[in-house]
Amino acid sequence: MSSIRVSVLLPVERETAQLGAAVEAISSFLDSAGFEHELIVAAAPAVDLAALPELVKRVKAEGGYGALLKRAVTEATGDALVVADPDLPYPVSDLGSAIAMIDSGVTDLVFGSSGKERRRTPLLLRWFLVDEVPDDRILLLAFTSAAAKLLFSEAKLPGAAIDLEVAFLANKYGFRIERLYVRSARRLSGRRRRSGFLLDILRIRMANRVMAYRAARRCPICYSAEVWTLAQIPHNLVRHCKRCKCRFLGRFWESEEVASQPSVRHPAVGQASPPDRRKTFERRLAILRREVASQARILEVGAGDGLFGRLSLGDFEYVGIDPSPGFAREGRARGTEVYCATLSGFVNTGPAFDAVALFHRFERFPDPHDALARIRDLLKPGGVLLMTAFDTESLLYLIGESKLIADYFRSRLVMYSRSALIELLEHSGFEIVSVGDEFAYQGHAALEDILRRTLPSLAALITPLLRRLPDPILTPAGSIRILARRRVGPGVNFAAIRSVEPTHAR
Ligand SMILES: [Zn+2]
Repeated sequence: MSSIRVSVLLPVERETAQLGAAVEAISSFLDSAGFEHELIVAAAPAVDLAALPELVKRVKAEGGYGALLKRAVTEATGDALVVADPDLPYPVSDLGSAIAMIDSGVTDLVFGSSGKERRRTPLLLRWFLVDEVPDDRILLLAFTSAAAKLLFSEAKLPGAAIDLEVAFLANKYGFRIERLYVRSARRLSGRRRRSGFLLDILRIRMANRVMAYRAARRCPICYSAEVWTLAQIPHNLVRHCKRCKCRFLGRFWESEEVASQPSVRHPAVGQASPPDRRKTFERRLAILRREVASQARILEVGAGDGLFGRLSLGDFEYVGIDPSPGFAREGRARGTEVYCATLSGFVNTGPAFDAVALFHRFERFPDPHDALARIRDLLKPGGVLLMTAFDTESLLYLIGESKLIADYFRSRLVMYSRSALIELLEHSGFEIVSVGDEFAYQGHAALEDILRRTLPSLAALITPLLRRLPDPILTPAGSIRILARRRVGPGVNFAAIRSVEPTHAR
């Protein structure tokens, strides 16, 4: 016996001869599969349900398919809700597959889809609405109870377009969707959604604009509610804030989870060789040398393998922290002062720092506001913050977004845009000194590898040109470098903010 309870919902708009047989087939299948279940038939007032077995719950509603479905969902008491076609044009075992997908926890919604090959959402729908919408030719949907209750309490359309509305809201509220491919026994044509769907899209869009739907969970960076699902990745999804252009995980990994993940390199950056990495870090160190006096006390958050610490030993009084005990041990073994600590847990026993450096570390903090407040506290007034981070507004990112996103978020929580980072720093008591693209040294071998992976069609053309350039060469890393200073008193340096093209109202 499975532990979950299943509600099967059958919306019946008009009399159908198959209904009795479908109810029978579904019920005996779920019995044999060991699911505790209930069947709910929601029918239009004219439909006669007298012949149905005693145990079937029946409800009536006026207004069409959408109204029937909403009514049925309010009646359902199961942990998993499955909406089935009263004609049952697919094997009844497909309902079992949909339930199993919900039960396994990999997804919140299942959209059944007919046809042998993957059927993509029509282009118009993708443009104006969302990427994932249910197949309009068959009716097989499954939901977790929580997803169904939220989505159908917000959905408003009484007709067939409620499917589109539910898909739209699933994206808005960050539910995961999986497709289930079913073999349909009958020839199918567009069933419920007709040519009028453009009008339906307009209705959904308008309802969203006038805030008829409950707001989604806000962006953790700028607190805007204009947050949408950008992509689904294993066990999670990536959300996208339209206001600040940041991407972040739908559900943040626990910090231990992130710490234990192997650090994944930006696929467009590649694996630089140790000498090339060293040169990149020397460039970063040179920036700090210009900003702070010799023998100043500096803190590196996320010391990693300790390369930066070793390079800075002659110049600065270096302290590093890293949440990984292995890195902390390694750093100390090599003569640098590295502690196993998180930013929030680190206790500074010495004087305040003259500078704090974070190289691609800021993206791992669940709360950027907290992290910056903490960094501010660790710095002297006038102290310097040097930070590098991937940038969603960089050209490299725009080219390679789809390829890099799943890898990137294995070990990080947020991907910032440069404008969001600048705004964050400004609001957190920092004055921007300079913002620029971050460059990294790359050898030819690493670059050729990146070319083959990201632009295979152009690799043959570019490789000979590349070989004429010095090895290694400085390449854009899809990242920015920000130098900021802890503000002593109030006052905002607007000149520095204006030097970066704004992407949203500040
Ligand atoms: Zn935002």
